[in-house]
Amino acid sequence: MPQSFDVCIRGAGVVGRTLALLLARERLRVALVAPPPLPSALADVRAYALNTASRQVLESLRSWPDAAHATAITQMQVWGDQGASVRFDAAAQGVPALTWIVDVPALEARLAEAVRYQPQVEVVSAPVPATLTAICEGRASRTRAEWGVDFDVTPYPQHAIATRLVCEQAHGQVARQWFSQGSILAFLPLGGAEGNSVAVVWSVPPEQVAGLLALDADTFAQRLKAASHGVLGSVRLSSERATWPLQLAQARQWCGALAPEQGSGSWVLAGDAAHNVHPLAGQGLNLGLGDVQALAQILRERSSWRSVGDLRLLRRYERQRKAAILPMGLTTDGLQQLFSRPEGPLQMLRNWGMTSFEHSGPLKDWLVRRAMGSH
Ligand SMILES: Cc1cc2nc3c(=O)[nH]c(=O)nc-3n(C[C@H](O)[C@H](O)[C@H](O)COP(=O)(O)OP(=O)(O)OC[C@H]3O[C@@H](n4cnc5c(N)ncnc54)[C@H](O)[C@@H]3O)c2cc1C
Repeated sequence: MPQSFDVCIRGAGVVGRTLALLLARERLRVALVAPPPLPSALADVRAYALNTASRQVLESLRSWPDAAHATAITQMQVWGDQGASVRFDAAAQGVPALTWIVDVPALEARLAEAVRYQPQVEVVSAPVPATLTAICEGRASRTRAEWGVDFDVTPYPQHAIATRLVCEQAHGQVARQWFSQGSILAFLPLGGAEGNSVAVVWSVPPEQVAGLLALDADTFAQRLKAASHGVLGSVRLSSERATWPLQLAQARQWCGALAPEQGSGSWVLAGDAAHNVHPLAGQGLNLGLGDVQALAQILRERSSWRSVGDLRLLRRYERQRKAAILPMGLTTDGLQQLFSRPEGPLQMLRNWGMTSFEHSGPLKDWLVRRAMGSH
């Protein structure tokens, strides 16, 4: 096992592990900081909508879960609060799937296994010196705070409640989302093509969270059935409920040189440690995986005399990724704001907008291609 490291990655979430595997492929020596999980840690109840670009990178690392844990979505239906709706079809786009709904524990397990069999990666329990330190500690990154990196945060007036449901009817590979005044509900299909369970993300005003969590499982399930207009018949909770406050956030600086008291070398941010978006478009992790692909590519293509901590390379990565995430941040933020206001004219405008968008042809196709990770 190597004694010194090119890169030390702090944080072994999906972004940190993917970066470790990508850099190991470039023959870099990687330390991955992963403190042992707390015995009380619960399995993540979420499932992520991952696009084609994310699928390709995870497949190339042999970390894409099997079809039962990565449900292909052939249709998406989105409803507004006055009956307007938008439908997206894989067939209309000429693709087999619009996105895949990936079970988070299954994805984490595949990545952990790939890391275990990668001799270039050493899993360590505390940070070690390296030419480059990559901070992948998620939105509440302690290292980012300790190293004084400014993180601009705009909280949303919504918290997400995530859980899982077993439904009377099969989901039919259709992802469904309902926008109503102040809340957004998503049903994301699980269990493969024939499945009848869904991962739920319900973004609601913070003042409603405590009350909803206090409901017993059956009453909470009834609330979800009502909010989804009974589209999948009767439903039953099959997991715990977990919550997240939601925010739009971005670090001002994504890379730099370590101050002498912090050690030597450079640092760089990736994933949720660098940026957060509202989960309504299911893009946060897709953006994070885009970060680590871009970083790995820039490091791979560097001249042989440049080190992996070269600030010119890291600044190129920062510029490239800030430009790439801007449209998604603006889109999700705009939609969140448009649907969080009760005013009558706004309600008419958003429903008119949805109807127009449904018939907009090229605009709709362009947005779908971007969300799918195609260019
Ligand atoms: C309700 C909800 C639904 C979402 N749905 C989607 C979706 O459908 N599609 C999508 O693309 N995105 C989605 N996202 C966004 C997605 O969850 C994040 O973008 C993604 O988890 C970011 O991955 P990460 O590895 O950067 O951070 P994290 O997942 O937060 O992982 C960070 C890791 O670092 C570890 N860590 C933290 N501090 C330290 C430390 N000091 N030392 C060592 N390790 C540390 C943590 O334990 C964790 O393992 C959703 C988010 C929410 C809240």
